[in-house]
Amino acid sequence: MTSWLARWRQERILARKRIADDLWREVIAAQPLLARLSVPARQRLHDLATLLAAEKRFYGAAGFEVDARQIATIAALGCLPILELGLDWYRGWYSILVYPGAFRARHEYRDDAGLVHEQVSDLIGEAWDSGPLILSWEDIQDGTALDGYNVILHELAHKLDMLNGAVNGMPPLHRDMSRQDWTRAFTAAWNAARTAAAVGQEPVLDRYALESPGEFFAVACEVYFELPERLHDGYPLVYEQLRRFFRQDPARAVAARSRSHREE
Ligand SMILES: [Zn+2]
Repeated sequence: MTSWLARWRQERILARKRIADDLWREVIAAQPLLARLSVPARQRLHDLATLLAAEKRFYGAAGFEVDARQIATIAALGCLPILELGLDWYRGWYSILVYPGAFRARHEYRDDAGLVHEQVSDLIGEAWDSGPLILSWEDIQDGTALDGYNVILHELAHKLDMLNGAVNGMPPLHRDMSRQDWTRAFTAAWNAARTAAAVGQEPVLDRYALESPGEFFAVACEVYFELPERLHDGYPLVYEQLRRFFRQDPARAVAARSRSHREE
């Protein structure tokens, strides 16, 4: 619940630091994912993105300087998942680190024998528990097509998943949701995806989803927002769980939009 003091602070930010209308229109026009939202949804997104841009610190990495358009773009796309949930769902972390392109990350891991190994990999995004959200600007810029790949949605799905501990493919569910229903829906989809991969069938979700339940959830979120009809047709029970979780129905919104276009 937002206290009156927090609400007052938010209203002050909205009045003084609002993402300028011209810039906002430019950002929306460049993102088909956002341009297809209804006018009231885009207005609410404008408020939320303004608050996110003011509350998180944006840093450029590897000599990159983050400008106002890049901040507005990341904030706008980043607020889509929490449009009906609120900014509180991004609590517990404070900064967004932006690299110009893919970045090299070193991670240490301990094997079963207790030996520590170092792994170096090239990444386009990363999210650590309580740590920064790390993104590659090049991949955000190249990722505007509605193809089911969106690094911001992916990494923020991990952030939501982390709110209740380990990245395990289950964020904190709302009171009117059931952990059992969630588990059943995702397990059935996971098994179907494994079978499809084994026989070389066209996958509903990118194969990367089968890395772990946490990745399965993050990849499902990308497709849920970008190609909602594909997820709805492929894994209807997963779609239904995500609809209840995000409190948005993108498949219905897309269908209604294409109907109204036909009638024009
Ligand atoms: Zn991931």
